[in-house]
Amino acid sequence: MKNKFIAAAVIIAMTFGLCSCKEQHPETSDNSLNESGANWTSGDSEGSGFRPTKPISTEPNPASTNESTNSENSEPIDEPIEEPIDEPYVEPFEEPDTSIDIPDGESIRIKSGEDYIAKSGETVVLCGTSEIEEGGSLTIGSGAELLVYGDINLNGTLEIGGEMSIAKTASISGSGRIIVEDSFNQINCDGHVTATIVPPHPIEVDGVTYVGGVLVANKEHSLPENYGSGLTNGLCSALEKMRDESGYSFVIMSGFRSYEVQKNLFWSYVERDGYDNAITYSAYPGTSEHQTGLAVDLGWVDDRYAYTEEGMWLAKNCQDYGFIIRYPQGKQHITGYIYEPWHVRYLGKSTAKLVHDSGLTLEEFLRVEG
Ligand SMILES: [Zn+2]
Repeated sequence: MKNKFIAAAVIIAMTFGLCSCKEQHPETSDNSLNESGANWTSGDSEGSGFRPTKPISTEPNPASTNESTNSENSEPIDEPIEEPIDEPYVEPFEEPDTSIDIPDGESIRIKSGEDYIAKSGETVVLCGTSEIEEGGSLTIGSGAELLVYGDINLNGTLEIGGEMSIAKTASISGSGRIIVEDSFNQINCDGHVTATIVPPHPIEVDGVTYVGGVLVANKEHSLPENYGSGLTNGLCSALEKMRDESGYSFVIMSGFRSYEVQKNLFWSYVERDGYDNAITYSAYPGTSEHQTGLAVDLGWVDDRYAYTEEGMWLAKNCQDYGFIIRYPQGKQHITGYIYEPWHVRYLGKSTAKLVHDSGLTLEEFLRVEG
């Protein structure tokens, strides 16, 4: 019955344009949602958005066969026998292919103790205001997808084993948690998320630490001496776009540094200012983010950069281009570095937005030591 209900609601919504955010559906405005460069991974959103209709759409053929069989039987036989014969044919089509109950086809309300699971191949589309109450959970299993066009008031748990896309006008807020099972690449965020995000556990690959696909380089997580060969393409094209759209020049004062360069630089600072001072603004060889090819110093390596027009624009907008101000003011006890308004780290747009909107440092967001 659920499937029928969802299909009916979705079909009605499609036919009569009832969905309040219809113009934001991927099939009608792919471009606006894709401008991040990050993609709605299921390009065939038209089909996936309404996947629950599939099991039902196959119903007429076998059902009509059944009916004819039944009608043959039913003519000579009394009514009471007909009914039990119907049931075995109906059951397969009511198989709970999806356990998501969407009362009006646009939003859900999951109460305490309820756990809804979207399985592989299923897509859940949420438009209105959805509620996941404390003690309730929605699990987007591996191979399943959640498309968020409205707001989710999350006080329970949202577990992402598949993929989740959050449209520009959408939000996920509340005291609940979003659990990311494997990678931040599972999330494509254009909207706002203020609910707590629980990252996957750190893993180490070839001497490099990653949390959910995000490379970690700080005082507690060093890089191999031979790591990196230059700024990454992702950073370079994002910087180019930021320059074009802002009108600011964002001159690179320092880009990629090899281990050797960092080593010479660090020890020259130690010679000048002493170790205890040098370590607050320069990284011990092997621990500099500049060795990742994912960080640059822009504009002016001076505190006063924060008060220039360019510096202010950077602080306000850089997350929309995939960057974060990596060492924010007042967070030295967490990041290990003094405020550096010029040093940005490239994370990609979606993850940068998540980190920015969390109000946390990268260390806090990824739950790693700094
Ligand atoms: Zn720097």
